[in-house]
Amino acid sequence: MKDLITRLVSLQQIDTRILEKRAFIDKVPGRINEVDEPLKAAKAELERVKQKNEASARKKKEKEQLLEEINDKIKKAKGRIADLKTNKEYQAHLKEIEASEREIRSIEDQILVIMEEMEKSLQNQQQIAGRVKTEEDNLNVFRKGLEEEVAQYEKELEGLKAERGDLAASVDRDVYNAYMTLLSTGNGVAVTSARNEICTGCNMNIPPQLFVELRKGEELIQCPQCRRILFYSEEQ
Ligand SMILES: [Zn+2]
Repeated sequence: MKDLITRLVSLQQIDTRILEKRAFIDKVPGRINEVDEPLKAAKAELERVKQKNEASARKKKEKEQLLEEINDKIKKAKGRIADLKTNKEYQAHLKEIEASEREIRSIEDQILVIMEEMEKSLQNQQQIAGRVKTEEDNLNVFRKGLEEEVAQYEKELEGLKAERGDLAASVDRDVYNAYMTLLSTGNGVAVTSARNEICTGCNMNIPPQLFVELRKGEELIQCPQCRRILFYSEEQ
């Protein structure tokens, strides 16, 4: 019986290590997602600023086209001067040309404002692009480190599984099945120590008579509260 208890304790130690490694591996995608947040935010900001700059460029082009059209209009109007008959017609014509020229100056001013805004905004875009690059580099370093750790853990898991197989095969089937049920109901702990008449699995007191039995180590004893298999540990 003492030998069985020893084997169950060893099995629990291996399973604890297996569960720890699996938990680490399972958490990897979540951890990458968390670290990914600043990159996502920087990319979204970059996209927003890019779209704004593209809109400004379109607006600038529209204004430039308008400028061209008005210049054409003035050129044609000037070409018609020779056809004008009266002074009144001539004055009206000049006024029309002057109005177009004023419109040109106003549009040129608007283009300048757009260009100044774009210059600042393009600098901003470059800065954000730099931040995206930095965040990408950081994430890659982090991801690579994790991948190396996971690979190491996977390797260790293989070794632990092999070790576990031999040990599990040496435990009586019914006891093993009970152990496996307890492992899942007991949050990964099926076998736990009892010290100073207390179960370290659930921290409840163990009745003195049961504790005496446990010390003898002649039978498999479960905690009356959490049902975990107990082994005796020296008082501290
Ligand atoms: Zn207990």
